[in-house]
Amino acid sequence: MKPLLERLAKGDILLCDGGMGTMLQQRGLVPGTCPELWCVEQPDDVMAIHAEYRDAGSDMVECNSFGGTRYKLEHYGIADRCHEINVAAAKIARRIAGDSQYVLGTMGPTGAMLEPYGDETEADVLGAFTEQAEGLVSGGADVVIIETMTALEEALLALRAVRVVDVKMPCIVSMTFDPVATGGYATMMGVRPKAFAEACLEARADVIATNCGTGIDDMAAIVEEMGAVTKGQVPLMAMPNAGMPVMENGRTVFQETPEQMANKVGILLDAGARIIGGCCGTSPAHIAALRAAIG
Ligand SMILES: [Zn+2]
Repeated sequence: MKPLLERLAKGDILLCDGGMGTMLQQRGLVPGTCPELWCVEQPDDVMAIHAEYRDAGSDMVECNSFGGTRYKLEHYGIADRCHEINVAAAKIARRIAGDSQYVLGTMGPTGAMLEPYGDETEADVLGAFTEQAEGLVSGGADVVIIETMTALEEALLALRAVRVVDVKMPCIVSMTFDPVATGGYATMMGVRPKAFAEACLEARADVIATNCGTGIDDMAAIVEEMGAVTKGQVPLMAMPNAGMPVMENGRTVFQETPEQMANKVGILLDAGARIIGGCCGTSPAHIAALRAAIG
């Protein structure tokens, strides 16, 4: 398998996989319990989900490690199992990926508030990401993806942590943008796509990405804004939700069908995205439809 960055430099378009949370719940994960612990306690279920996405045609598999920092694991009283859980997450993803898919070690927000807004120091958060990255790298991840970030400082700390662990590890940095009433898009913490892309260029992220928050229509505009900054210097990635969420009987649902997403994926490619994946509300059926559309 050619290294991911070589494929992207050649101009290849690659397909990532889709949502994990709903898939775990369909297999019995009780909301409020730790999804990442399944990598250790119910690896067969996690592997079955990875296999469904692989069989749907994705080129890469995202580990079930999104909430795998000690900050998140602490909510379940298992912070001391951080290394074990992240190693397992990467190992079982590799077992399904073999050498036909890239294994993406996933790192999500810690939920910790950095000084001066909160009590956590940079060193604390850097340490937590470093610990997680060590687990993912020693478990065999090919790439690390830092995703669903809303604070720029935290995203950049996570990137620094990955570099501390393995300076050559390709690193994707992804933030979540929402539409702003006054126009354009921003993260919950007020970061605009252009400012994010500028910071990523400076910090030498290997791929600059956006995930969650919006569906394809809005995400194409976000990718265009980032592309106006990067001007082709760094590949862009987009992982839209299956449309914007709507409330149904008190539950958040995403309504775009696989066909609807597949019909629109061209606008994301035209906007400049070179890796496409799916976030909330996407399933193996969505990824299969995207595969057929992208070719
Ligand atoms: Zn999402």
